[in-house]
Amino acid sequence: ELAQRMAERSVDLVKYLMKEGQMMKPGDLIDADMAELIAQEFGHTVRRVTEADVEEGIFDVEDNPEDMKPRPPVVTIMGHVDHGKTSLLDAIRNAKVVSGEAGGITQHIGAYQVEKDGQKITFLDTPGHAAFTAMRARGAQATDIAILVVAADDSVMPQTIESINHIKAAGVPMIVAINKIDKPDADAQKVRTELLQHEVFVESMGGEIQEVEVSALKGTNLDGLLEAILLQSELLELKANPDRTAEGVVIEAKLDKGRGSVATVLVQAGTLKIGDIVVAGDEWGRVRAILNDRGEQLKEAEPSLPVEILGLNGTPQAGDRVAVVEEEARAREIAEYRQRVSREKAVARQAGSRGSLEQMMAQARDSELAEFPLVIKADVQGSVEAIIGALDKLGTDEVQARIVHSGAGGITETDVSLAESTGAAIMAFNVRANKQARDLADQSGVEIRYYNIIYNLLDDVKAAMSGLLSPER
Ligand code: GDP
Repeated sequence: ELAQRMAERSVDLVKYLMKEGQMMKPGDLIDADMAELIAQEFGHTVRRVTEADVEEGIFDVEDNPEDMKPRPPVVTIMGHVDHGKTSLLDAIRNAKVVSGEAGGITQHIGAYQVEKDGQKITFLDTPGHAAFTAMRARGAQATDIAILVVAADDSVMPQTIESINHIKAAGVPMIVAINKIDKPDADAQKVRTELLQHEVFVESMGGEIQEVEVSALKGTNLDGLLEAILLQSELLELKANPDRTAEGVVIEAKLDKGRGSVATVLVQAGTLKIGDIVVAGDEWGRVRAILNDRGEQLKEAEPSLPVEILGLNGTPQAGDRVAVVEEEARAREIAEYRQRVSREKAVARQAGSRGSLEQMMAQARDSELAEFPLVIKADVQGSVEAIIGALDKLGTDEVQARIVHSGAGGITETDVSLAESTGAAIMAFNVRANKQARDLADQSGVEIRYYNIIYNLLDDVKAAMSGLLSPER
């Protein structure tokens, strides 16, 4: 690639390297310093591009407080499988489509906006926390408010607990929607009490988390839910400056046969306009068309509006940040830089330089963070509790394990993505990871440690903990 960028033949580069005592072939990696030397040797001037350069002038726009205008809340629905996430999303959407409106054919673009009493609310339409954590893992916080759906006939289940942990880890305010209230065996009170055990204190139990009883199937009390969202949103005083170059995040993206690369982008600041040059992750392009969730063409998109954009040269990933830049050359430069970085990272990962428990502890030590995050998975709930109990006892005033998530059952992708986004290692007792989880762990460098003796697990944590205690303390 270096040869290509210098418009030289790669054989000449290989020859030169050989002369310098470096046996290399095309496709091998050289570091930036060497690349710079070589480029100079071949008579080129070098300009380094770093992530700092990339970020500069894109994400560092300082907004004046007086330019900040209220913006709609962005809501994600989470909860256990079959508790009614999809039904609720569909019910809200169908109930709120303005009847008789032209072009009112809803398109599933990964997010939609509804209106309640003249106020807008944006829903991320990919239920479950996979998208939520994928974004958080990439540093993009797209959600302002999380709705925790719990079916009143089934109450709190493993993924309910997972969702709670995800929401808490993200520090996003929660509203509890107790769903399926129409069912004869619905027991909303049981849901409330069980939530207490997971430190979710709803209002009727003396807590501060709003709870709403709904039926997605019958459309009962959807307004109540929307009101709760608006109330929460008011407390958050969500604002963005619409009068600046746009910034946002990719919600989903696909390659469409007819239209090319199509990305659903949630605008988070500024106003996105047709003709804007955007960078999205390591792709870029000029915005050719903007469409809303009803497939209508728009000229521009303001903050909190989810829109499909056409015109990107490639397909970015969910969670990629989007920014408008001044010139095509700059967009290309940033995209190419990022493509290179991700290639290098992939190569480094293959070389086995993954983050390990030790590295994590070392990092924690450097930052004087006297706690470290862990995900605990075990075969039965009894073991989970035994491990957590023992870990609690290991903790001292200076250092403590922080359990970001625990549960009985095999390790899944969501465990790994939660570990990734919280920087945790996964401690597995008598359970294995499924293939998807293993692949994701490999990709993201999350460490999974397997044990079949609790004592060994505790020993490792103890060792890591004592490493955490800096000698001078
Ligand atoms: P998800 O997996 O959380 O997205 O759950 P779904 O929305 O797919 O719902 C799972 C099942 O529960 C479906 O058969 C729905 O029809 C049903 N369901 C969802 N909401 C309600 C409700 O409020 N009342 C009743 N009786 N059934 C519901």
